[in-house]
Amino acid sequence: MAQGRDGVGVSEDPARRGVPADSPGRPLPRGIHRESPVGEGVYLTKLDLAINWARKNSIWPLPFGTACCAIEFMGVVSSVFDLSRFGAEVVRFSPRQSDLLLVAGTVTYKQAPILRRIYEQMCEPKWVVAMGVCASSGGFYDNYCTLQGIDKVIPVDFYIAGCPPRPEAILQALLEIQKKIERNPAPR
Ligand code: SF4
Repeated sequence: MAQGRDGVGVSEDPARRGVPADSPGRPLPRGIHRESPVGEGVYLTKLDLAINWARKNSIWPLPFGTACCAIEFMGVVSSVFDLSRFGAEVVRFSPRQSDLLLVAGTVTYKQAPILRRIYEQMCEPKWVVAMGVCASSGGFYDNYCTLQGIDKVIPVDFYIAGCPPRPEAILQALLEIQKKIERNPAPR
């Protein structure tokens, strides 16, 4: 057996190459191939790729909503934009059950330690999205009480521009997080 594309095992013997196991027009996840030396319906891949494929399609978001952006997020999980199409509809309000912290709104200096504590309570692997200009940079609240961006207290994987951002921008952020999960080795 030789290493194929993306490290997937394929047979060198053409006679042992598998037959197409699925509808030919339907794309398979990255790293999973229809051709199998074992037989129809059997897919070979690496463990990391399989874990990442499952992980990116089952993100559980925790909205840390403090202001108007949180209202916009409600639209994203509702029927028109429907976050569940991307496998991320299981919104949780417990950091121990979530892997995507979505900070939506203005964060004050007083709230900053709370945000930090919530981030620390989330299990690895975890990702953070700063939704809107307030979470990303303080926005127009450049004053004595407003944190000038949540990245002053926690790491951020993706920033969404806008005040408030369009729902499509939030969906785009989720897709970018999914790509990031897919690219990196799966943490165990
Ligand atoms: S970015 Fe705009 S919409 Fe979002 S919390 Fe700040 S002021 Fe509200």
